[in-house]
Amino acid sequence: MALARLLHARGIACEVLEEDSDAPDRWRDVSLDIDEQGGMNALRLAGVELALLEAAGRADDMTTVYDAQGNCLLRDIGSGASRSRIQRTQLRSILRSSLPVGTIHWSFKAAGFERQEHGGWDIVSSDGRRRTFDLIVGADGVWSRVRTLLTDAQPVYEGITVAELRIENVRTFTDPSETVGMGTMFAFGAGKGLIAQRQASDRVRLLAILEDPPGGPADIWKERPAAKDKAQLISHYRDWSSNLVALLEASAEEFTLRPILRLPGGSPWQGLSRVTLIGDAAHVMPHFASEGLNLGLADAVDLAHAMIIDEALDTRIAGFEARMLARSRMATRRCAAETRLAIASNGARELVARMARNADR
Ligand SMILES: Cc1cc2nc3c(=O)[nH]c(=O)nc-3n(C[C@H](O)[C@H](O)[C@H](O)COP(=O)(O)OP(=O)(O)OC[C@H]3O[C@@H](n4cnc5c(N)ncnc54)[C@H](O)[C@@H]3O)c2cc1C
Repeated sequence: MALARLLHARGIACEVLEEDSDAPDRWRDVSLDIDEQGGMNALRLAGVELALLEAAGRADDMTTVYDAQGNCLLRDIGSGASRSRIQRTQLRSILRSSLPVGTIHWSFKAAGFERQEHGGWDIVSSDGRRRTFDLIVGADGVWSRVRTLLTDAQPVYEGITVAELRIENVRTFTDPSETVGMGTMFAFGAGKGLIAQRQASDRVRLLAILEDPPGGPADIWKERPAAKDKAQLISHYRDWSSNLVALLEASAEEFTLRPILRLPGGSPWQGLSRVTLIGDAAHVMPHFASEGLNLGLADAVDLAHAMIIDEALDTRIAGFEARMLARSRMATRRCAAETRLAIASNGARELVARMARNADR
């Protein structure tokens, strides 16, 4: 939708084919951090910055780091800067209202793609509707259907699972509230991690990151889904300090398990005339690194810009892809390093050392 908005602003006609219905999809309603360079810049160029700032909360940039024994290795109050944090449904609603009526075709699940004589493509929906285009941009997420036109690569499980929990009104739990601090807390060590992010209304999003050897958490939960309970999750942290385990104890009973996925081969694909990808369809990042949306929005800016260059369409697309892939490879390396830290035996100390190196640069 952001790309559609950027293209419309440049006078380029486009349509969005969306599998979802018009109703907000609450099951995917995650909270998203928007960074200044990728995300906010794109939303500013799309002319929706003000609407976003009105709807978004602020994420404080205070950082706290603990080791598994509960020793606080760092409490950095940050620069006072804060990032915007918004619910996915809110962002979707802002972008949707910025588009001319009729741009989005809801409940259109793209199922087939047919090359046309003029070089363009027909997209056929699962219920037989057909739309004709000069260019297909696959912005259809991790399990992209459009990507299958370009490569056989499919996301693979990294052997790491993230359990996502929440603490409502953390101030009512005095010690956990103090442990988390005002921004983001990292606790890494003994092969697992906990990340806590303080959100609006003192809600805390808590991510438990666990490696998944055979018989590990995801395996156990796959075999015995009824056993997907918090007590079992907490048992994986029995060698951790009680002040950190208290965060898991203070969280709601219900939680979501998300596998960490990787697109093998660093997203190479065969050039195919008038087809390209952006966002998660092109590059898959661990969601706890807060990169995916921001990269996707940066892709949208670059592609919209490429569309107004005076060159053959396929040349413009190739230029865009080179730029996008260079950026996503750097992000993939950053995310792989963060993921390794989260499950390292001495992850907290390594994280503090890395932050110190970055501050010196
Ligand atoms: C819990 C969680 C927290 C996250 N936090 C952050 C964060 O703080 N910051 C950040 O930058 N990123 C974050 N991310 C990652 C971010 O949500 C994704 O990277 C981003 O949403 C990718 O956008 P996208 O448009 O490429 O794909 P998606 O958001 O997945 O959108 C794809 C769209 O395509 C549609 N679609 C799929 N298949 C078809 C089809 N065949 N036909 C038609 N339509 C189709 C889907 O219905 C969907 O609307 C988080 C992710 C999760 C799960």
